[in-house]
Amino acid sequence: MAKILVVEDEEDLSSVITEWLVRDHHVVESVDNGADALELLAVNKYDLIVLDLMLPELSGMEVCRRYRAKGGDAHVLMLTAQSSLDAKEAGLNAGADDYLSKPFELRELVARVRAMLRRPSARIPDLISVGELTIDLRQAKVFRHGAEIRLVPKEFDLLAFLIRHHGQCFSAEALLERVWCSSSTPLTETVRTHVKTIRKKIDSADRQSLIQHIPGYGYKFEL
Ligand code: CA
Repeated sequence: MAKILVVEDEEDLSSVITEWLVRDHHVVESVDNGADALELLAVNKYDLIVLDLMLPELSGMEVCRRYRAKGGDAHVLMLTAQSSLDAKEAGLNAGADDYLSKPFELRELVARVRAMLRRPSARIPDLISVGELTIDLRQAKVFRHGAEIRLVPKEFDLLAFLIRHHGQCFSAEALLERVWCSSSTPLTETVRTHVKTIRKKIDSADRQSLIQHIPGYGYKFEL
């Protein structure tokens, strides 16, 4: 059981999301705009926020940014329009933990919420140090001993996704679905190639690769 805030301006969608989450034994409150969401978030503690990106006036992105800026640490699941990759990336940069593209199956939303609630609620800071590396998730930069290591945007996206979901293992197919644009049609080989390049750039010879490959399962990052 978790306390969840649903921020969605489409009335029908909001009530059906609420219904499914309540059926999954959560306590659910809902609002249809960003200002009301921020007001509730200022006084109540929620475990998770289902946040629509396209809201009238205050966007979901802005709500998320302001909430995080005030130290809000609930999980944020952003709902985005389909295949709008820029929006997804911007959402993650604004502090969302995960996103779901519309239209989605309600079963998928409930499953995603469950998975998110299983994760420790501690927020991943923007600056992460792993060994001799410093990874700046907000600026999308990686440094070794202060010198920048250049990753192409997709390499960084993949690395950042694995860091944000550290400890969880993802198959190449799952990574394609979560990190690549759904309108493009990359192959799972693309994921392998990217992992290989990232490893070459960030790993040191004297320690285990930061991106672990678990045969038969997929890839994961351990902080
Ligand atoms: Ca909307």
